[in-house]
Amino acid sequence: MNCNELVELVTDYFERALSPSDRARFETHLEECPHCVEYLQQMRVTLETLGGIPPETIAPEVRERLLETFRNWKAQR
Ligand SMILES: [Zn+2]
Repeated sequence: MNCNELVELVTDYFERALSPSDRARFETHLEECPHCVEYLQQMRVTLETLGGIPPETIAPEVRERLLETFRNWKAQR
């Protein structure tokens, strides 16, 4: 799994909707990639800031903005 794949799966991860094999790949990537661990934490904080709403109710444009933030943030490193 690469970082982009992880970002695509992150809402499924929070919904616990990943298949066991995807979940294993997701967590393996987290062990190797501190950037994604940090992203996951940001995502969690953002979700809590939004009022603890479940990820599936995040509007697509909000999700897209989060992904964009993540891409910019990675590009700065
Ligand atoms: Zn990563």
